[in-house]
Amino acid sequence: MDAEIIAVGSELLTPHRHDTNSLYLTGKLNSLGIEVRLKTVVGDDAGRLGSVFRAALDRSKLIIVMGGLGPTEDDINRQVIADVLGRALHEVPEVIERIAARYARTGRKMPANNARQALVPEGADWLPNKKGTAPGIWIEHDGKMIVMLPGPPRELEAMFDEQCMPRLRNRVSGNQIRTRVIKVAGLPESEVDERIAPIYKPYSNPSTTILSTGGAIEVHLSAHAPTQEEADALLDELTDKIEPALGDHIFSTSGETLEEVVGMYLVMRQKTLATAESCTGGLLGERITRVPGSSEYYLGGAVCYSNELKTRLAGVSPKLLETYGAVSKPVAQALAEGIRRKTNASIGIGITGIAGPGGGTEDKPTGMVFISVADERGTEVREFRFPGDRERVRLLSSQFALEMLRRRVRN
Ligand code: AMP
Ligand code: MG
Repeated sequence: MDAEIIAVGSELLTPHRHDTNSLYLTGKLNSLGIEVRLKTVVGDDAGRLGSVFRAALDRSKLIIVMGGLGPTEDDINRQVIADVLGRALHEVPEVIERIAARYARTGRKMPANNARQALVPEGADWLPNKKGTAPGIWIEHDGKMIVMLPGPPRELEAMFDEQCMPRLRNRVSGNQIRTRVIKVAGLPESEVDERIAPIYKPYSNPSTTILSTGGAIEVHLSAHAPTQEEADALLDELTDKIEPALGDHIFSTSGETLEEVVGMYLVMRQKTLATAESCTGGLLGERITRVPGSSEYYLGGAVCYSNELKTRLAGVSPKLLETYGAVSKPVAQALAEGIRRKTNASIGIGITGIAGPGGGTEDKPTGMVFISVADERGTEVREFRFPGDRERVRLLSSQFALEMLRRRVRN
């Protein structure tokens, strides 16, 4: 079964309010194996809503229309949908009673315009609203299902879970969607795709998409089959083929973040960690401490932005700073080794670079970052040239620091 979602509300077309309901509904529908093929956001405009809904009727089996069920003049959904379907609206006394009772409970009288919310198209079912006044509406029409839901997320979610999920579950037996995410570090998106496109292209089930998120590349696989086990078997088959092509660049196939994976290794090896950060200003420490239980391995770090604090907090010699400059291989190394020494951590990390947009020179351009990892086996320093703006350079620096650390603690 394929579904289509129509979100109604002029505020959803402004930067001030997001259409979050459709994401909620999509997650729920996917869990039933129903794929959402299209969603539309329409302002409170009867003409436009009518044309979008007419088109939806032509192409989709399940149409969910949400918002626009309030008691005011701009809440047009009931009328528009009824008109397109050629059904009259009639007032349902039981709904009026329920709304009036809701007001009575808080000692108020129902305003007259609330009666509009009791209007339901001929032949439709109405869905009680436990968290608000507007009932939902469920219509079966020429083999299609049309569901109208209230806009406020807490009302919509409760109504959908309690009333719509059971009805839909009855309709779609035998289609399960399962997903898997393969997370990759240390490779650009284009190279990930180059390596695996020949493997996944021949498959339409599972379907494959590659996403770049926060410095990591994610390969999303989605399979459908009559049972969960069969869908999982399809995922296993393709995952087994993709894994060798990406090798040890894969850091997770079960949802963990890079900082979580690194944390697991540090716990396993009983190692401790300290950081000395310049251009990332503490971002690396922030990411490491996002993981619950990180106090077991992370001692802490220094944000040593100025040369003076590089010396005072991480023991970098002034001579080194003078000779090579703060953004240099020897200084990154001295930061990692110095913070390790000063804190008695098993592993020290140093980061120094030019995040931009200003401050770059021909020798040391914006995006040049040195990252160093030191432990009892020695010190590694790598030089990077990261693309993008200041935020991106900082994010990628923290990402590659974690990736270098992962490789160090993995074995
Ligand atoms: P309505 O049912 O159109 O009167 O909307 C009631 C409230 O729900 C308003 O505050 C809307 O901004 C909010 N709302 C409506 N549609 C959505 C949506 N798709 N996602 C999130 N909030 C919504
Ligand atoms: Mg509205």
